[in-house]
Amino acid sequence: MSAISRETKDKIRREAKNRGGYCLLPQEIVSMDLEIEHLRPIADGGTNDEVNLWLTCRNCNGFKHAKTQAVDSLTNTEILLFNLRTQNWNEHFEFTNDQTKISGKTPCGRAASELRASGQSKKSLGERGMVSADGLKQRDKK
Ligand SMILES: [Zn+2]
Repeated sequence: MSAISRETKDKIRREAKNRGGYCLLPQEIVSMDLEIEHLRPIADGGTNDEVNLWLTCRNCNGFKHAKTQAVDSLTNTEILLFNLRTQNWNEHFEFTNDQTKISGKTPCGRAASELRASGQSKKSLGERGMVSADGLKQRDKK
């Protein structure tokens, strides 16, 4: 399989508005470079094609590993993980009232945010706390 070209990486970074697909943290407040994530893991037959790639922070990429499914605790069913490229973040997730955490609104969103929370470090919560959901929304309008 050919490596992901610099050109493709740059294009995905632009499409993703240079922020993590799950937590929406912009690159400028994440200490480490955002990473290119395989929506369908290589181990599961995923490719380096553009349609299989999106941008995430290391924390979010780390929690997902090679998973493609997670359990929604409310319905106790296995759910296909949120697709960063094709699904709408606002339909599946929302920020908690204090805006430091993300919670799922749908089985898909819940499964992803529970999986994410289970592997989340205190540091990433701190980073999350530095930027409010309103701030991000304002930013999107520009
Ligand atoms: Zn993230």
